[in-house]
Amino acid sequence: MKTISSISQFREWRKGITESVGFVPTMGAFHEGHLSLVQKSNETCNHTVVSIYVNPKQFAPGEDLIHYPRTLDEDLKKLDSFTVDAVFLPNNEVMYPDGFSTKVNEEILSNFLEGNSRPSFFQGVTTVVAKLFNIIQPSHAFFGEKDAQQLAIINRMVTDLNFPIEIISCPLIREENGLAMSSRNVYLSNDEKEVAAHINLALEDGKSQLYSGQRDPQIIRNIISNHISEQQLLKIDYVSVADANSLTEITESISGDILVSVAVYLGDTRLIDNFSYSPSSNK
Ligand code: AMP
Repeated sequence: MKTISSISQFREWRKGITESVGFVPTMGAFHEGHLSLVQKSNETCNHTVVSIYVNPKQFAPGEDLIHYPRTLDEDLKKLDSFTVDAVFLPNNEVMYPDGFSTKVNEEILSNFLEGNSRPSFFQGVTTVVAKLFNIIQPSHAFFGEKDAQQLAIINRMVTDLNFPIEIISCPLIREENGLAMSSRNVYLSNDEKEVAAHINLALEDGKSQLYSGQRDPQIIRNIISNHISEQQLLKIDYVSVADANSLTEITESISGDILVSVAVYLGDTRLIDNFSYSPSSNK
């Protein structure tokens, strides 16, 4: 496993490779969710490249850029159990040298949900992912369904900007208590993690109503909101029942594929979770 920090060095290494290259972009502080993407890349591609870069452009002033967990040594050790050809570890000077002034902006899906609460977030994501795609030049790239809106926006960007890359979505991995794994979970105490597990339990309440045939989106939102609100430590940012493709809120009876998603604060920690549902297959 080669670690590479400069773009020119990476290009030199990449030159010799003609078979499929799977790419897993990350901000590090690995958990089983990240590693499931690496595993999927190993199963899908001849080569795997992982990047670890805490991208300042996707943090707003006052967010947790400075405190975001950085655990490079442990991360590299965790990758030892997989077949990783190269780990790309750029710094800010490499990614955003003086004079950098271009941004990639997806202009529709980015306005809803996370984008509504964190206005410049997706512009930061699409800009860094587009740069990384151009540097790594993968044949496949792996993204988690934990960040369902991000996945939708990356798919849109790849289509719109004609990146010759197949985007592979990977299932959301959870802690034993159901809490969606996240690098930000390290901010939580064990007691807080038990409280945070109610986010998924609330989603499960909504899901079972859908399976039982409930088609009123507001009833689903209310069931989820009410469960979360029973936990005094949890503060709801949004509870959404949206069209899976357009990400716009459903107002009429649910008839097509939906994304049910939530963002919740536990103290200063922002936690997101979601599930997808298709009435046609009732799953
Ligand atoms: P991050 O390091 O948080 O930017 O995440 C890097 C990649 O890992 C993204 O594609 C995420 O969607 C994915 N990811 C993060 N958490 C999970 C999880 N619990 N399950 C599956 N994928 C995840």
